[in-house]
Amino acid sequence: MESLPLPQTRLLRTAIPGPRSATLHAERTRQVSSGFGVALPVFIDRAEGGILQDVDGNRIIDFASGIAVTSVGASNPLVQARVSDQLARFTHTCFMVTEYDSFTAVCEWLNTHTPGDFEKRTALFSTGAEAVENAIKIARAATGREKILVFDDAYHGRSLLTMAMTAKVNPYKTSFGPFPGEVHRAPMAAPLRWPGGAENATAEALAGVEAVLAAQGPETFAAMVIEPIQGEGGFIVPAPGFLAGLRGIAERHGIVFVLDEIQAGMGRTGRMFASEYEGVAGDLVVTGKALGGGLPLTAVTGRAELMNAVHSGGLGGTYAGNPLACAAALGVFEAFENGDLLAGALRIEDTVRRVLEPLVAEDSPIVDFRGRGAMLAIEFAAAGTASPRPLLAAAVAARCHAEGVLVLVCGTYGNVIRLLPPLVIGQDLLEDGLAVLVRAIAAVQAESTAGEFDGDSPVEGPTGHTTPDFEQNLRRFETAVCE
Ligand SMILES: *Cc1c(COP(=O)(O)O)cnc(C)c1O
Repeated sequence: MESLPLPQTRLLRTAIPGPRSATLHAERTRQVSSGFGVALPVFIDRAEGGILQDVDGNRIIDFASGIAVTSVGASNPLVQARVSDQLARFTHTCFMVTEYDSFTAVCEWLNTHTPGDFEKRTALFSTGAEAVENAIKIARAATGREKILVFDDAYHGRSLLTMAMTAKVNPYKTSFGPFPGEVHRAPMAAPLRWPGGAENATAEALAGVEAVLAAQGPETFAAMVIEPIQGEGGFIVPAPGFLAGLRGIAERHGIVFVLDEIQAGMGRTGRMFASEYEGVAGDLVVTGKALGGGLPLTAVTGRAELMNAVHSGGLGGTYAGNPLACAAALGVFEAFENGDLLAGALRIEDTVRRVLEPLVAEDSPIVDFRGRGAMLAIEFAAAGTASPRPLLAAAVAARCHAEGVLVLVCGTYGNVIRLLPPLVIGQDLLEDGLAVLVRAIAAVQAESTAGEFDGDSPVEGPTGHTTPDFEQNLRRFETAVCE
């Protein structure tokens, strides 16, 4: 059944959500656990390029890519062709039962393309949290040590161990403890909120890291895990030199350096891996999200001697590296081959920067524009301060949604609007979506001077540690749905 291409234009046929979506959402509420939030309660009928078409016939501009997953497009023909072919041959064997060579081919691509000029091996999994946990298993097996170092504002997943590694309490961790022990948190060189000023962030944060290690005994740490650009924590780009400094500290103490590239990797930032901007390679690198082109596939890739330190049978999973997902990944790799998609990410950055960066000003509630490639964000705070204004961000997002532009909110304080368009988004569509965002900001700001969104920012933002006051404040509004 060939269908016509989905027009790459925004179209509002009904209010958003429309009546059909509203009906389906009501039914969902009767059937689905209320533990699942939703950023925008519309039901999708088709998706292609930069457009999500809902069941009411609205065409919504996709600035989310299903959280950085459909980077090559939600119906990329290269992915579809390979998955269809695989679907016709077989769907599953379990790689631990009998083998298929697409698994090996995905591993080979990752061994070749991840940073680091050393012999590598790869293990495939299904979810990001699962891959992060396996990176920890590998690091522990290889070092014989237990402790894990993570950072302020980190996000690593929703399983018990990765919840412990994740910084933000609400919504990820609230009521789900106790968590596994031996997870220690160190300061993140976050330029905007660094108490000693952005220019001192790298040196002071590295000193903080050394202090945490010293207090615990650096020789007891198996792994240090960091996102090269933090995702859910607020698209925080570490101050220059921080990643390289961490790499040095890890090496000095024999700690396995793990880069969580699940959100920032696979071309999202305009390079294949975000850590390339800092010239840093992980001993292990974790990939996911865009890797499977919409099918569940994640990986741990790293030094052969670490990856092979695990006893045979120690790694695996029923669906780990499922054949359909491997076929999809091979389609994703093919889509990246000619370089157009990386160029696309840089084109997106140019366009978004030109429109949004000028909004940052002394007297503006937009206090920061940051990110790389097609992973960009603006942060809302009381003008001239770092005091977060989550209600303002939520109001802007809601207005965009009503106008048919899907943006997501993120950040430890819930005050960041992030843009994650598919790398294939057309230029006109991108500019239309940005124009809607700019109008939404202007409209909400006009209301906000009238007082509507005042009082949502009781604390000056210190480093990643939220104050009890602020935690309470976060609970006041329906937490903008992050991951
Ligand atoms: C999404 C994400 C994860 C978790 O991936 P899941 O597939 O949701 O388990 C881990 N780390 C980072 C940086 C992520 O963005």
